[in-house]
Amino acid sequence: MSFESHTDLARRRLLGTGLALSGLALAGCASTGGSGPSIGRVVVVGGGFGGSTAARYLKMWGGNIDVTLVERNPNFISCPISNLVVGGHKQMADITRGYDGLKALGIKVVQGEVTGIDAAAKKVRLAGGGELAYDRLIVSPGIDFMTDGIGGLASALATDQVTHGWKAGPQTVLLRKQLEAMPDGGVYALSIPKVPYRCPPGPYERACMVASYFKTAKPKSKVLVLDANPEIQSKKALFEKAFKDHYAGIIEYRANNELKEVQGTTAKLEFDDVKANVLNVIPPQRAGDIARSANLVNVNSRWVGVNWLTMESTAAAGIHVLGDATFPAPAMPKSGHMANQHAKVAAAAIIQLLKGEAVNSAPVVMNTCYSFVTARDVVHVASVHQFDATDKTFKTVPGSGGVSAAANQIEGRYALSWAENIWADMLAL
Ligand SMILES: Cc1cc2nc3c(=O)[nH]c(=O)nc-3n(C[C@H](O)[C@H](O)[C@H](O)COP(=O)(O)OP(=O)(O)OC[C@H]3O[C@@H](n4cnc5c(N)ncnc54)[C@H](O)[C@@H]3O)c2cc1C
Repeated sequence: MSFESHTDLARRRLLGTGLALSGLALAGCASTGGSGPSIGRVVVVGGGFGGSTAARYLKMWGGNIDVTLVERNPNFISCPISNLVVGGHKQMADITRGYDGLKALGIKVVQGEVTGIDAAAKKVRLAGGGELAYDRLIVSPGIDFMTDGIGGLASALATDQVTHGWKAGPQTVLLRKQLEAMPDGGVYALSIPKVPYRCPPGPYERACMVASYFKTAKPKSKVLVLDANPEIQSKKALFEKAFKDHYAGIIEYRANNELKEVQGTTAKLEFDDVKANVLNVIPPQRAGDIARSANLVNVNSRWVGVNWLTMESTAAAGIHVLGDATFPAPAMPKSGHMANQHAKVAAAAIIQLLKGEAVNSAPVVMNTCYSFVTARDVVHVASVHQFDATDKTFKTVPGSGGVSAAANQIEGRYALSWAENIWADMLAL
């Protein structure tokens, strides 16, 4: 067996470990079909990391259960690895996958927009006017942006003058095109909001990827990182080392630089204006619009509180919320890996609830986030989170996880295998 086969196997085992640790016994219920009467109807809103995984595992573990997944986009496009597209090291096709695997399992995949949720009548409304009835609803809509506090940002984003690139798809393509069109000697400015935002290490990975492109293609250009936070928010020492070792003279990092206003491609900060050729603003974030319009947002006017044993919203019975939209447990990141783990907790709990059985009282979830600091060198951060019955939340298991000792190419291979494996896990590829 080749080395790569071993690493692929290791990655598959790692994702599998999440299941075992979640306390989700698979024996005897790993059915993809099921005969006899349906045990219930579950509608899933959002076919990203959380929603797709939940749909797949409901069908796989629940057998005879009616699962309908509603997603506005025709294909899944992954945010993880999208920074490599921005840096020119991967193409959009490399991060795009279809929903045929889920359809083959008997999941009804509806391409459409959910415009409303009637929790009392247990129905969701679709943009075309249709309705879907459910016994249990899963909502995994990801994030939407809070542009109100930053003057000019909403219109700059709407007219494509400024990009966010924080939802993979057309924005990723646009940002790449702007970088390609930028003259050598130009400035790319990246504005990072205060935490919490999706993928804590993602902005620093993006800075590295853009700098890696400039280093070979536009060596006189600069990457200016305008961070609203007082310091780098994840894998700090590793990113600082990467900035210094690989991108000295290209990346300039500025802490405590909160964006106040956007004028054209000029970023207006508290004490300073930065004129950029390409301005990339990651706006502050909150739970996706549908969570807000359905009155599920009940923490800090931004996030959805959940019961961690079932992922059921604390605002509305029968509605389970996953992924980035949730108010996280302490030290729990907003990541694709974590959304995948939330989905497995929810899928198991929903099947048990539909059958009138007790839910698992001691779930464990895990997270690994890889970041590319060059096209091949990668660093990771990992953690394991155990449900604490006293405080009714997940807590980090002492001594679990950690970060890479140094950036390295073996983790570069792990990172790409992790992505392929999690896409296969969620989309039944
Ligand atoms: C640049 C970048 C790099 C990242 N790298 C990593 C990484 O390496 N590892 C990692 O684990 N995480 C990473 N992340 C974070 C990860 O992408 C998110 O945490 C993850 O996507 C969250 O999953 P989710 O299910 O909550 O939301 P999403 O995956 O965003 O899925 C939400 C889906 O719901 C759909 N939707 C929303 N509202 C509606 C509606 N009303 N009707 C129909 N459909 C709707 C959307 O179209 C979308 O497909 C990265 C993020 C970014 C931006």
